[in-house]
Amino acid sequence: MADKLKGIAASDGIAVAKAYMLVQPDLSFQKTSVTDTQAEAQRLDDALAESTKELQMIRDKAKQTLGEEEAQVFDAHIMVLADPELVGQIKDSIKTNQVNAESALKEVTDMFISIFEGMEDNPYMQERAADIKDVTKRVLAHLLGKSLPNPAMINEEVIVVAHDLTPSDTAQLDGKYVKAFVTDIGGRTSHSAIMARSLEIPAIVGTKEITQKVSANQMLAVDGIHGDVIIDPTADEIAEFHQAASAYAAQKAEWDKLKNAKTATKDGKHFELAANIGTPKDLTGVLGNGGEGIGLYRTEFLYMDSPDFPTEDDQFKAYKAVLEGMAGKPVVVRTMDIGGDKELPYLQLPKEMNPFLGYRALRISLSELGDGMFRTQIRALLRASVFGNLRIMFPMVATLVEFRAAKKIFLEEKAKLQAEGVEVSETIQVGIMIEIPAAAVIADKFAKEVDFMSIGTNDLIQYTMAADRMNERVSYLYQPYNPSILRLIKHVIDSAHKEGKWAGMCGEMAGDQTAVPLLVGLGLDEFSMSATSILKTRSLMSRLDTNLMKELAEKAVTEADTLEDVVALVSEYVK
Ligand code: PEP
Ligand code: MG
Repeated sequence: MADKLKGIAASDGIAVAKAYMLVQPDLSFQKTSVTDTQAEAQRLDDALAESTKELQMIRDKAKQTLGEEEAQVFDAHIMVLADPELVGQIKDSIKTNQVNAESALKEVTDMFISIFEGMEDNPYMQERAADIKDVTKRVLAHLLGKSLPNPAMINEEVIVVAHDLTPSDTAQLDGKYVKAFVTDIGGRTSHSAIMARSLEIPAIVGTKEITQKVSANQMLAVDGIHGDVIIDPTADEIAEFHQAASAYAAQKAEWDKLKNAKTATKDGKHFELAANIGTPKDLTGVLGNGGEGIGLYRTEFLYMDSPDFPTEDDQFKAYKAVLEGMAGKPVVVRTMDIGGDKELPYLQLPKEMNPFLGYRALRISLSELGDGMFRTQIRALLRASVFGNLRIMFPMVATLVEFRAAKKIFLEEKAKLQAEGVEVSETIQVGIMIEIPAAAVIADKFAKEVDFMSIGTNDLIQYTMAADRMNERVSYLYQPYNPSILRLIKHVIDSAHKEGKWAGMCGEMAGDQTAVPLLVGLGLDEFSMSATSILKTRSLMSRLDTNLMKELAEKAVTEADTLEDVVALVSEYVK
């Protein structure tokens, strides 16, 4: 009988395809003694040849999809495999110590890695150590008859199964072949889930055990709308999923008709529907889905997609492309939010017990380590500002002192550029994300100093409820409709309005169909969401009456005790 699993619905869509296991194989081995050292050396040569062939294929594919510069990383790996010094020493070790190729390989490469890693002031040698580590894994896998997963090499229709996907794994997935992904861990607001929505790949996260239950090439049916996975579906179940996929496509076609329509409630009130993006490439999706602006450009992906810190010019080009692409519509660019689940291989951050409560985002930007990086980003933004309607937003602001420090750097860099004769827009708004409860509580104070506030509910909810957004065991506490969250949101919106400022929301809650009526009632000005949620939200808003929604929101904030009470109220008010 087909096995069923339930997970957290992370990205809409339905797919049926075979499983591709994106799981690291077990590369453990025993050290053994050998008598035929020549045969052992031959095994090593075969594994080296296989690895080289594989790396050349990966290199060619990377060149096609990512460009020459990215592909060069693999040249370095191929060179390691051909390094006579390294290979010679491994062969010597096989011969003199009479050991199997696996242990000779490990012993010699470990030695090189520790020497290179020891040269702490030499980034070139550090990189070589990383290359040798990578290559050793590949050769070892070949010696053990196992294969390493290569998500970038997928060239047939599959459903990716993984324990977890990092944002950089997710970025490598090609929607043409990857029909869906399913993971053991994660929540609706983990970054891989957010990226799946912008890539329009159906996804289910937090199934806890998919990697235990499924093996390579097993058929899977995935419903990313409800969070259901069927392993080895029957013919009837496959037919059912195909039918559901057609129904979903028909629904999407209906929403598509609203692409060029104005966003308005039944009583004609306009709300801005903006999109969240991670790279300039996402603009196609924003324009294709009728986005009225960018409410959140997560610039950290610029840093994560690059082998080293992106230069001021690289950043300038990306920001200019987005501003020009949006042709005068507002673009809120968030300064980098590294840390949490987003790591940079070239920025050695210390390992932390609680990365989401740690050295992250603006905390890095305002520290000595991040100062140069932050100023470079601000300068790039200022230079790009003349090409559109730029708004700059600082993430993870906890105190007014932090905001003032960041604003001061903005003003300093602006003055410097102007002194250099560089043209800079005079109408850049500077605002903050409200995603730390401390900031939400004193939103009235912030409202006097900022130009806008955008509520980041992904973090605001995790911090308010003390529930890690990556941990599926506590994902039930991700409660956007909980009265405590609604009260915080109301306070932020009211505080902004009192000072004549606007309030937006760029957390996933902004596109949540149960939350939208409440947010309309609370008077949120701007809703920023995954581009793929814009049209269904436009459709929903056209059926809402603002006065009724105000009544609904008032009741939710004052009368409801629990999330369930709020959900019941919404279904009473929105038929
Ligand atoms: C948020 O926290 O709601 C947010 C939009 O930022 P991120 O998801 O990138 O942390
Ligand atoms: Mg956040």
